[in-house]
This record gives sequence, C-alpha cells and structure tokens, in this order.
Amino acid sequence: MKKIKDNEKKFSVITLGCSKNTVDSELLIASLMDRGYEHVENILESNYVIVNTCGFIKPAINQSLQTIKDVIQTLKDNGKDSKVIVSGCLVSRYKNKLINQLKEVDAFYDTNSFLSIPNDIENIENGKRIVKMSGYTPDYSAKLSKFVSTGYFSYVKIGEGCNHTCSFCAIPLIRGKYKSRPIEDIVQEVKKLVSIGIKEIILVSQDTSFYGYDLYGKLCLDKLLNSICSIDGDFWIRMLYLYPTTLTKQTLEVIKENTKIVKYVDIPLQHVSARVLKAMRRPGNKDFYKNLLEKIRNTINDVVIRSTFIVGHPMEEEEDFLELVDFLNEVKIERAGFFKYYREKNTFSYNLKQVNFKTKQRRYKIITSIQDKILKEWSEKQIGKVFKTLIYEEDENYFIGRAYFDAPEVDSTIKVIKDQKSRRKIKLGNFYNIKIKEFKEYDFYGEYIS
Ligand code: SF4
Repeated sequence: MKKIKDNEKKFSVITLGCSKNTVDSELLIASLMDRGYEHVENILESNYVIVNTCGFIKPAINQSLQTIKDVIQTLKDNGKDSKVIVSGCLVSRYKNKLINQLKEVDAFYDTNSFLSIPNDIENIENGKRIVKMSGYTPDYSAKLSKFVSTGYFSYVKIGEGCNHTCSFCAIPLIRGKYKSRPIEDIVQEVKKLVSIGIKEIILVSQDTSFYGYDLYGKLCLDKLLNSICSIDGDFWIRMLYLYPTTLTKQTLEVIKENTKIVKYVDIPLQHVSARVLKAMRRPGNKDFYKNLLEKIRNTINDVVIRSTFIVGHPMEEEEDFLELVDFLNEVKIERAGFFKYYREKNTFSYNLKQVNFKTKQRRYKIITSIQDKILKEWSEKQIGKVFKTLIYEEDENYFIGRAYFDAPEVDSTIKVIKDQKSRRKIKLGNFYNIKIKEFKEYDFYGEYIS
C-alpha cells in the first residue's frame, strides 16, 4: 500500500447547490484538515478534487455533470493525475448511471457517507474505486476544529431530510425523513462559531419549523432559539426554510422578543391557488396565506418576509396564475424568488398534465417584473433610514455589508462609501450603523454613521 507523502496532501472542494450542501462541504474540509490535508482553492495544485454535487432539478443536475467533466478535462489538459471524488445529492439520486458514465471518477459518496472520505483517501490513492452509500452519520462537531466559514456568517444545519411529499420535489428521495440534531449539539456548535468571530448564525434545514418533532415529540424551534439567544455575544440569528403550517405562535413570539434574532421570516409558499397547491400536495390557499402573513406582520414590527413561488406547475390554469399575481400585488412580499417548474423523474407531478414551455416562460417573465416593482417600491422607502449592518467585505471603493433584511447569497447588499471617516472606523466582521442613501440595481448605497 503506497503511503501518501506530506507534499501530496492538497485537496480542493467544489460545492454546488444549497446552503445545506455548503455545511456538508465545510464539515468535510475541516475533517480533512484535521487529518493534516491542506485545503487549496486551485484544483491544479490539488492531489484530490472533490465535487459536492446538487441533484435537485435538471439545471442543477446538468451543472453538476458539467462541473465534473470540466474538472476531469482541466486535469487531463494540464497533465495532472489528481484523484477525482464526487459526493452529494447527484450521487444519492443517480449512483448507478454516474458509475457507468463517469469512468474517470475515482470515488462516489452519497449525502450520508461523504464524511468517510478522509478514511478512504489512502485506498483511493492506491487505485481502489470506492462507491459508498450511507452508514456514516455526520459528526458536526468536526467542523469546529478548523474555521472554514467566510463572510463572518455561518450556516448551521439543525436537521436533515423532510417528511413532506411536495409533488415537484426530489429532496425526500435524496435526503430521507426529517432528523433533528439535539439542541445541546447545536448550541455547542454556535457557541464555538461565535467564539471564533462569526457574527451571523443562519439556521437551515429542509423544513426548519419542523425542528424537534421527531426527537422531542413536539415542534420546538422556539426552545432552540431561546437556547441560542442565551449565548453571550453580539451576533445575529437568522432562519431559512420555514414551513407555513408548522411555524408556531411561540416561535413568532420568540423572534419578536429577542434582539439577536433578525426580523426576517423566510417561508416558501410555492403558490396560493387551492387547485395548484392540491396538485403540489401542499396545504393552504390564498386566504390562508394572507392571514398567515398578516399574523407574522402583526406580531413582529418591521418584519421582512422572504418567500419563493413556482410558476408553470402542472394543473396551473391562467386563472390560478392570475390569483398568484393578485396575491403578490396585495400582500407585497419584500423578498420573493420565482422558479419555473421542472419535471423531475420519480416525483409525483411528473405524471400530471404539464404546462407548455412557452406559457411557463411568459408567466415567469410577468411575475418577476411585478416583483421587481414591489422590491423597488419597498427599497426606496428605506432611503434615509439607519440600519445596524454587518460589514464583511470591501473592494476598492466600498465596504460591503448586509442589514437584517438581507440574507447572504439571495438578497441585496449595502455598499458603504469609503470616505475618510469610514476608512478610519470600519473593521471587517463587525456591526456598524449605516444610513441608506440610494437603491440602485438591486443594491443599496449607504454612508457610515457610527
Ligand atoms: S417541504 Fe421543501 S424539501 Fe420538503 S418536500 Fe416540500 S419542497 Fe421538498
């Protein structure tokens, strides 16, 4: 068995897909660094290239496949014999196809087994082609020994999997049933992240408001939030992926009461027409969601709501689409994202009557332009106001930050003018009071106040 030399221990990780995949990659990077491997960005310097894939919908699947092929080709073109390892949702979903199609890949790991990569590296190095599916429950504490998050925020996974069966979604097929992490585990992780300079903790899972039901027999996101809020330090807590029927009054009260928790509620609704929601195997209707948003807004002052919607889902007639348009014009959600429906194999809606591509395109164009107007209208109302802002980056002309109403990677940023005062006062990774001066091309421009 050939031993791996110290100067042959460089690895890089390419992460595709969602924040949950980002957490998995960070875990893997930390585990390998714990074993003395060196994390590098440039794949041409790497002895091991790991592609952590997404297998959610067609465009993401194509991007994952193309990325793997590009890595293989780049290494070949540069005469590199580095090992290529593929992990993540694409493997969980299409293992057999990948093994046959991608002969140059040295090892495959699904979403439950990727953490055994550090144990298997020597075997891979010695030419053993490894295919591993499950059997290795991730130990999130590993992440804590090596600091790998960037931008002074960190996603913290509070659970894995999903018990819902939305008819367009393949995630339950990939990640299985919902599994909560114990509260003490999560609190331990957050304590350490705060102690190493993280200023924003973003709680994620596929169904964040379902937290605790499987483990404690009741919904207890509120209890988890209270435990995290009791940790000392000046940091923000944000949650993503709340589900409409499991978001409790208690959780809304905890958000309202605690200054650490940003007044930002991310709650994907997907649609509002009763007929389409039924076809999606999701609860609710237009009135139910209007009342829900009203309840959230009445409970939490200045709350900003984020949601996502699918257009062109099977069974969506023109009147259903217009019902969604009316809803958006009425409730004016501050932050909304839209997807065109993708027909995914082995999902329930695959066999339903499909909406044609042209109609889907037209509806997508109409609804995104409506939301752009809503976003502009709301954003311009923020001009002149001062917001606590996390400054996490800078370029030649600006410091870059986010206020409570902006989640990383999906929402806007605040560009803070670099003048004499701001240059003297601002240090990256801290909160400052910033006055909004302008909103332009989806971003805010502001000036340093204090
Ligand atoms: S709740 Fe989200 S992750 Fe779960 S099945 Fe529905 S869309 Fe998929």
